[in-house]
Amino acid sequence: MNARPSNDSARLNRTRDDALRERARRVIPGGMFGHMNVAALPANYPQFFEAAEGCRLRDADGRSVIDFMCAYGPMIVGYRHPQVDEAVARQASLGDLMTGPSARMVELAERLVALLPHADWALFQKNGTDATTLCVTIARAATGRRKVLVARNAYHGAAPWCTPYPGGVIAEDRAHLVHFDYNDLPSLQQALESVRGDAAAVIVSAFKHDFGRDQQLPSAEFAQGVRRLCDEQGAALVLDDVRAGFRLDLRGSWEPLGVRPDLSAWSKAIANGYPLAFVSGSDAYRQAATQVYATGSFWCGSVAMAAALATLDVLERHDAVAHMRQMGERLRAGLQAQALRHGVGIRQTGPAQMPQVLFDDDPSFERGMLFTEVALDYGVYLHPRHNMFLSLAHTPEDIDEALRATDIAMAAVAAGFGANT
Ligand SMILES: *Cc1c(COP(=O)(O)O)cnc(C)c1O
Repeated sequence: MNARPSNDSARLNRTRDDALRERARRVIPGGMFGHMNVAALPANYPQFFEAAEGCRLRDADGRSVIDFMCAYGPMIVGYRHPQVDEAVARQASLGDLMTGPSARMVELAERLVALLPHADWALFQKNGTDATTLCVTIARAATGRRKVLVARNAYHGAAPWCTPYPGGVIAEDRAHLVHFDYNDLPSLQQALESVRGDAAAVIVSAFKHDFGRDQQLPSAEFAQGVRRLCDEQGAALVLDDVRAGFRLDLRGSWEPLGVRPDLSAWSKAIANGYPLAFVSGSDAYRQAATQVYATGSFWCGSVAMAAALATLDVLERHDAVAHMRQMGERLRAGLQAQALRHGVGIRQTGPAQMPQVLFDDDPSFERGMLFTEVALDYGVYLHPRHNMFLSLAHTPEDIDEALRATDIAMAAVAAGFGANT
């Protein structure tokens, strides 16, 4: 392993990235927008990339890193997966967006209805926010009610009704949201009681994956209780599987808990990075889904649907969920051993295939920032606050290579802040 270069711009050697940032500042608000803005990440994080393959990214200056963000979730079988990209090229040679959908839409809906036990139909969109918003609209159409119950701090997208940031949002956008705490059934019961007769939907993520907080899997008791309360109150149970979908269980993330939603929202990993989202639902909500005017200029494009069909083939053929879990467990065990050896307190939470690593005594994430900064210097792209993602493309050798970098990063945290265990 090379010595870590010194901490200056020569070390960053980021000529092209810096030039692009400079140009972007002039023509893009803030130089970059949204979740991929690296302003809050360590200084050595590149903003721009030029290529990706398998589980590796190459940044604008040509540096290659092992990626544990997977484009924040969409990449699941590997960047530029040959089988997916072949299906994409084949469909592109026929036609992508046309004046109506192609057979791919029917094939994909059939495939999803066969795969997801709760689903009797599917409707396609482009982004997760399209899907969560449409679920809420369908639930309101079906019930004729207004209130939507949302877990505190949960992320369901970037539209005014659900964005975590207040810019441009008015009180009326959120007038009919009622909050409860994830994994806390009495708090949901109380919230439902407060709007008795007017609850259209309870929307829950697959597990608690709130930004910058320890993750939490739902207890079976909570999930089953949500189902029971929704049935008692006549509210739709909406599962937001946008982030976790296809990583925990191909049949839907709450299937192992024995709980089936009425409506579910999906996006991110469904087409391995090609733009696609979908809503699936049960027969009870088919009529409402028919009434709602669901559409978008690009929602019927065939290339992303072809990509989704190929992605599902690859996920099933390679038992991708088991692979991602094993790779996540290998990473987790390695990090745990390093933390113990260096006397650094860490918390690893959530499912292994979507790991979150937070440091003890780290309220402003300084330890996490140093850890990820050093890891990146040694070729591993991690995130100090957001959950990370494994993919089918991560091999045991990639994990072990990444662990050699994180060992140095863990030592740097111990040296910089002192042992705290
Ligand atoms: C990313 C995400 C969304 C929004 O998806 P976009 O494609 O970014 O609109 C919604 N819900 C969850 C849980 C997400 O992780």
